[in-house]
Amino acid sequence: AETILKLVDLKQHYPVRGSLFRKAKSVYAVDGVSFEVNAGETLGLVGESGCGKSSVGRTLLKLHEPTAGQIIYNGRDITDLSASEMVSLRKEMQIIFQDPMESLNSRHTIGTILAEPFEIHGIGLPDEREVWVQELLQKVGLPASAASRYPHEFSGGQRQRIGIARAIALNPKLIVCDEAVSALDVSVQSQIINLLLELQKQMNLALIFIAHDLSVVRHISDQIAVMYLGRIVEISDTETLFRHPRHPYTQALIAAIPIPDPRQRGKQLLLQGDVPSPMNPPPGCHFASRCPQATALCSQSYPALTELGITEPLAPEHGVRHQVACHLASPA
Ligand code: SF4
Ligand code: MG
Repeated sequence: AETILKLVDLKQHYPVRGSLFRKAKSVYAVDGVSFEVNAGETLGLVGESGCGKSSVGRTLLKLHEPTAGQIIYNGRDITDLSASEMVSLRKEMQIIFQDPMESLNSRHTIGTILAEPFEIHGIGLPDEREVWVQELLQKVGLPASAASRYPHEFSGGQRQRIGIARAIALNPKLIVCDEAVSALDVSVQSQIINLLLELQKQMNLALIFIAHDLSVVRHISDQIAVMYLGRIVEISDTETLFRHPRHPYTQALIAAIPIPDPRQRGKQLLLQGDVPSPMNPPPGCHFASRCPQATALCSQSYPALTELGITEPLAPEHGVRHQVACHLASPA
């Protein structure tokens, strides 16, 4: 499969003003993130809130300006494109948010909301747009009558279907789903994930699926990147990550997934404490303050993201390598 998106050491730092007594500091929201996503495949991006995953999503779409690094979209370096140069690419790169209500104009009908992308880009005539709106509703499993109704008349899951319909209106190649199912009940979550998987197949869509919960991304992701304080601490194909997690943070996230079997629950390892501040982070491993395996070395130097040997020949078709940033993980 062809690479649709490649991030090379992407950084997004922003200054916070100092006061009379404190120096100005920088927030290292995204601090050197690299990955590649193939057309038609999904990268799951996970970590606790504040780890920078939403910032990665917004920066790669250039909704935030990157501070350093490169964004290669469909073979083209878009890092320094201006807002006006991005206009035509906006059709191909979309984002879906956690609460579609925030992005849906409550005074407009669903028909108007879904026709808007065509209007903005000057595509089609009003009659044609009406037909396309009906096709979109059908694609996301909503009735034709939805076009004349308003956002508040729909449930959370239905509103997310509307958000998806709008995101796919212009035939995108890439969609960033930022906590798109996090606010939904588990059963509704899986319906929306199934819908996304179906659309992905039909449209050869690449998805960047952002969530704080590993179990949510598991069934949709070809590869998973685990983030901590602006950096990727582990990345591999999904199966390898779950079978052979090497970073203590990934291990803790996997252990935190609720287990239906009560006999297994005692084995759960709980993550304590919060993610440290992304303002001028300390030199050592960012996870050191919470890591059960931390040694003296850990607070002195940041462990480089290192390629591990292939643990098992799993999912080699994705060509995803297993990389870990931990002093304890050495190549196999
Ligand atoms: Fe834990 Fe040290 Fe590995 Fe960081 S480098 S995850 S503190 S063992
Ligand atoms: Mg977020």
